[in-house]
Amino acid sequence: MIRSTTAVAVSAPAANVVPFHRPDLGAEEDAAVLKVLHSGWLTTGMQTREFEARFAAYVGARFAVAVNSCTAALHVCLHALGIRAGDEVITPAYTFAATAEIARYLGATPVFVDSDAATLNLDPDAVAAAITPRTKAIIPVHVGGLACDLDAIHALAQPLGIPVLEDAAHALPAWYKGAMIGSLSRATCFSFYATKTLTTGEGGMLCTDDPALAEQCRSLSLHGISKSAWNRYTHSGAWYYEILDAGYKYNMTDLAAALGLVQLQKVETMWRRRQAIAAAYDAAFAQLPQLRTPVGGAGHAWHLYMLRLRPGALAISREAFIEELTRRGIGTSVHFIPLHLHPYYRELYGFEPEQFPVAYEQYQLEISLPIFSAMTDGEVQRTIDAVVEVASEAAR
Ligand SMILES: *Cc1c(COP(=O)(O)O)cnc(C)c1O
Repeated sequence: MIRSTTAVAVSAPAANVVPFHRPDLGAEEDAAVLKVLHSGWLTTGMQTREFEARFAAYVGARFAVAVNSCTAALHVCLHALGIRAGDEVITPAYTFAATAEIARYLGATPVFVDSDAATLNLDPDAVAAAITPRTKAIIPVHVGGLACDLDAIHALAQPLGIPVLEDAAHALPAWYKGAMIGSLSRATCFSFYATKTLTTGEGGMLCTDDPALAEQCRSLSLHGISKSAWNRYTHSGAWYYEILDAGYKYNMTDLAAALGLVQLQKVETMWRRRQAIAAAYDAAFAQLPQLRTPVGGAGHAWHLYMLRLRPGALAISREAFIEELTRRGIGTSVHFIPLHLHPYYRELYGFEPEQFPVAYEQYQLEISLPIFSAMTDGEVQRTIDAVVEVASEAAR
């Protein structure tokens, strides 16, 4: 059972347990991976190139660069944008480790901003207040799959020439005012981690319309080796290459890309199933005064169903609520433990919990329920019954 998005996945399907997540894989994925396995070419190759082309076309980006995680995509992009020591990168405090650690990789400072209590996405007013002459990038996150207010963020960033790099790890597929996430900012990074809405086991994709940025990210993802330099010197032989920077080993394998190609074909089928599960949860929980259902909308990817407890309406804590669900065989997770509460950032920057009050408060109320396309109707009903039972028994 996979209990969180960060845990190492250990699949132990017990009949009486609703896991937090189970990947949606079938015979087509089996066949696609076996075909690569027997093809004689396992690493980056034709499958990866095709996955990039199809993914770019799907989200409406000119270029897509496949890598081995979303973290890697964010890292090469910040590197390519020239972020270095002394620079500041604005990120929400209410996010996963990856969004901020990539700034630290490059010696830059992640500048945390608070979130909006309704949507749980970063608050544009807080972004405005955090911008300084040292701000070199803004990394919004579409928390749970709900697009954040990109117009407001672009309106702040554009006049100052600050690139916006979207952490879209939760946002496939997702739409903002009818436009697909992946087509809207300088760059957008997606995750294909085991529990995400499209999985390649581990994997990520960087999307951009900027050919130079795409080329630089591609080069950085494979040791800083330049393909164009390579092409220029083909007269020297197929063995020739040039190293233009201290790059990384972040390339996607064809085994992973083969999975991705199959998963991409069913990305909207899987999304519609998650939409239906979210609708069933909303219908069951909206009337309960103890619970707060998440902000929805037509463009929501529904990677997460982020239920919140209403303070004062329950006689038990969030921890006890989770314990009760666990006892009833329901897998849950919490998104997120805000970054400023973690020892690394707390000690490095001397944060107090109340410094980002919305993130701190909402974190203490949040419970992520199972929402995955392979979930059966029976599992959805069991989850609903358990949540309603615990909420009713613990009502004040
Ligand atoms: C999962 C996740 C990532 C990292 O994705 P990986 O592919 O595991 O590197 C980044 N940001 C957020 C918000 C995530 O949930």
